Amino acid sequence: MGTGSTLPPIVRLACLEELLGHARANSLWPLTFGLACCAIEMMSAAGPRFDLDRFGAGVFRATPRQADVMIVAGTVTTKMAPTVVRLYNQMPAPKWVIAMGNCAISGGPFSLDFNYSVIEGVASLVPVDVMVPGCPPRPEALIEAFLKLEEKLTGKRRFPEAPRVPLEK
Ligand code: SF4
Repeated sequence: MGTGSTLPPIVRLACLEELLGHARANSLWPLTFGLACCAIEMMSAAGPRFDLDRFGAGVFRATPRQADVMIVAGTVTTKMAPTVVRLYNQMPAPKWVIAMGNCAISGGPFSLDFNYSVIEGVASLVPVDVMVPGCPPRPEALIEAFLKLEEKLTGKRRFPEAPRVPLEK
């Protein structure tokens, strides 16, 4: 048999990775963790009207050791920053972070020259996978963030993206 023959691989690691990606994408467990007003929208997303459980992401855990998604929902103050980092470090890998709202993304309305107490973006503390803009973002926007995370894990999108509505002039 020549060296150029293509035998089927004995172990299909690509299949295993794909299977793991689907398993992870459909069982994302968020950490129960809210910092400010955006957390109310996060709670609403988990409630019966928006039902985050439809996407397998409704099992909010009370300990970082059983969670694999951190939703940073609200303003991160310098006083709270070490706790955010500690909670992230206590989550087992693989783990993902969603920055929910303008405060978590950039400091939002508290990003002022004279304000020394607010971190201007949680990405400076922990690696962020998906950012959800808005003040506050609606629960649907958080659901979209989970769909983006699923897409990142599986390489496929569960539903087609909603068409973008052009801004009025
Ligand atoms: S982005 Fe707006 S709604 Fe969210 S925590 Fe900041 S101020 Fe509150």
